Amino acid sequence: MAQTLLARNALVLVTMDGERREVPGGGLYAEDGRIVAVGRAADLPAQADEIIDLAGHVVIPGLVNTHHHMVQSLTRAVPAAQDGELFDWLRALYPLWAGLTGEMVETATLTAMAELILSGCTTSSDHLYIYPNGVRLDDSIRAARQIGMRFHAARGSMSVGESKGGLPPDRVVEDEGFVMKDAERLIGAYHDPARFSMLRVVLAPCSPFTVSHDLMRDTARLARANGLTLHTHLAENDSDIAFSHKTFGMGPTEYVRELGWVGPDVWHAHCVKLDEAGIALFARTGTGIAHCPCSNMRLASGIAPVSRFRSEGIPVGLGVDGSASNDSGHLLAEARQAMLLQRVACGPDAMSARTALELATLGGARVLGRHDIGALVPDMAADFVAFDMSALAYAGALHDPVAALLFCAPQQVSVSVINGRVVVRDGRLLTIDVPATVRRHNAFAAELAALAPS
Ligand SMILES: [Zn+2]
Repeated sequence: MAQTLLARNALVLVTMDGERREVPGGGLYAEDGRIVAVGRAADLPAQADEIIDLAGHVVIPGLVNTHHHMVQSLTRAVPAAQDGELFDWLRALYPLWAGLTGEMVETATLTAMAELILSGCTTSSDHLYIYPNGVRLDDSIRAARQIGMRFHAARGSMSVGESKGGLPPDRVVEDEGFVMKDAERLIGAYHDPARFSMLRVVLAPCSPFTVSHDLMRDTARLARANGLTLHTHLAENDSDIAFSHKTFGMGPTEYVRELGWVGPDVWHAHCVKLDEAGIALFARTGTGIAHCPCSNMRLASGIAPVSRFRSEGIPVGLGVDGSASNDSGHLLAEARQAMLLQRVACGPDAMSARTALELATLGGARVLGRHDIGALVPDMAADFVAFDMSALAYAGALHDPVAALLFCAPQQVSVSVINGRVVVRDGRLLTIDVPATVRRHNAFAAELAALAPS
């Protein structure tokens, strides 16, 4: 017998379907984690194994986070890294990250995922690119399974240390042969390409300034032989561009074109400084971009031309980026920031609240290469969240509750359903003990802080 779920009676349900319908009094009915029907009470069955009444709530598709480094939750607001640009910020943090252990990665991932889930996110990617002291990607995957989040686990890597002209210290880089072998192991052990998959493996060398040309090329070959997606950082700020010219004799656009790191199976984080040729290349090839406005502001990297990317047809999603350059993991807040920052760059009509919400749902799904999440439509995954509009923050904004989610102070969800499973009820995360996780997390963070050079 199928497990059935009925959510009904919402103040308004945002479908993100082809017509962007918003249904007053809406709800949905799901079987075994798959949406079967969406509409008003009369359009839905009256009974189910589980019934959720959503009176007074706005329901939206679960948000999709396309860029993160969850371990960085252990190193937020580190004094030496508070006021630097990207390269200085990284140099201040590498010595702390060198102390990471597998247990720390698991705890930090639980912490980051709890924060994301409570902010409305149901699917996240995580880019883990540092593997000291026996850390493995399996440590993050264990956390995702425990908390119940839909997960794209990116096997990152750094292989070019300072002695070879790279940015990271030699002691945190890996042997390239081992990186490739470990990637093959992870694909065999975990990657699930099926529709409604809860776990996909992504291959993701950290950035052009931390890996070799050969590792970029070999990684793309392995990903494509196995139907995986590819991810890295690109064109983040001026020093990133300068490094590319000095080291490779070309800018990021030429670099990724030459390596074949373009196509609908590739997405790049940031692209703040992507040039005209790059924009044309990404548009022509369907290459995706993870826009991370808070991090770009925090590190003063610049303003990515997101409205332009969208008008050229480039797939764009949102990312909170690592917790040490945000230093928050609130995806609804990130959508709000995306909306506000485009207005700073291009005027008050540069991005509407509904466009920001679209970036955070359909946009993210497309960037991750998924056709089963991002909208509340029959035959999509039952991933949805609900916000209680009686909150103080929404007082006075109920004439447009959907816009209120973006314009007013970002709140936490009262309900989150991931793959048909209720993960948050009455604002409480049901799958892990949050206070105990935070206590463990803070103890680990103190251990890492002690590694800061004095
Ligand atoms: Zn990043």
